[in-house]
This record gives sequence, C-alpha cells and structure tokens, in this order.
Amino acid sequence: MNLYSCKKCKERQHGTPIMGEGLTQSVYCILGRNGGIYEGKRQRPWVGPAGKKLRVGLSMAHILIWQCYFTNVVKCPTPPGVGPAKECYETCRETWLDRELIKLTSLRVVLCFGKQALYYFCPQERLEHVHGRLLRTIRPWAQDKEITIFSTLHPTQALRDDSANITFESDMIQLSSLLKA
Ligand code: SF4
Repeated sequence: MNLYSCKKCKERQHGTPIMGEGLTQSVYCILGRNGGIYEGKRQRPWVGPAGKKLRVGLSMAHILIWQCYFTNVVKCPTPPGVGPAKECYETCRETWLDRELIKLTSLRVVLCFGKQALYYFCPQERLEHVHGRLLRTIRPWAQDKEITIFSTLHPTQALRDDSANITFESDMIQLSSLLKA
C-alpha cells in the first residue's frame, strides 16, 4: 500500500498523509504528533510555526538540520486545535511509523516532542517526569534492540505559554550537554 492512498482511519478526511523527510543516514529523528494546517498545505512535516520553533531548539542543542529525519506518529494532518482520534495513533504507527524508522540505519537518538511521541516508546512514562533526560528503551520496531530517546514539550506548547517555553528551551540546552557527555 502507498502512503498517499492510505485510508485506514478517519483522519484521512482532513487531508493527504505527510511523508517523513530527511536522509536515511540521519543521526537524529524528530518525532511529533502529526502535522497541522501548514504541513497539510505544503505536504511537508514541521514547516509551520512549531517547525520554526523546533529549529530554534535544535540550534540550542547544537544539532544540525541535515543530521535530522523529521516525521510524526500520525501521518494525516488535523485542523487547528484538534488532535487525531485515539485509535489512529495505533493504526498509523503500526502501518507507517515502524516501517519508516527501520530504514534509519544510523539512528542515534530519537527526539520526542510531546506526550504522544513519548508514548510510542515508553507508554508507562509521563512526560513531566522524564523530559530533559536521555532514556534507553526497546525499539518498538525491533524488539531485540534498544534505542536512546529524549523527550520534551511540543514546540506548539512552547509558543503558547511562557512557562512551557522555559521548559522547552532549558531541555534543549540540557540536550546539548547530554550529547557531549
Ligand atoms: S492517519 Fe495514518 S493510518 Fe490513518 S489514514 Fe492517515 S496515513 Fe492512514
């Protein structure tokens, strides 16, 4: 099945699925929830205001854009202020995300932005308890191997709220130190 013809869940009503973007040799994977209106229009992930804020965060962590693969747990965009339906996370993840990430052969760290991205790796953890840290966990797409993940708030939250912005930026600065250690 082709991603663009996928109609496996009801999120398809909001637009065409958005493919992840980046090199298969990427060292980092940027993982969010799903695209919004800007991503839907341009058919590219992380291109709206949240994507701009994300890039500011990446520069704080001294991560270069070309080292990153950009994607989301759910491939179809949703309207502003509306998240995907609960059942779509599982469906889209199993159908597309697992097979997308398996192709990233040089992957070192997955950066999870927001609780839905963290849930994909660590459903038992809560973002407020583990953000700003590196965690080792089992790869959902290859259960015999581990992967390092890092989580923080979604850049959309940082744009909406001063306190969330402080958390987001201090986590990204902390990431810079963690990656050097
Ligand atoms: S959200 Fe994912 S599984 Fe659902 S229709 Fe879109 S691409 Fe398919």
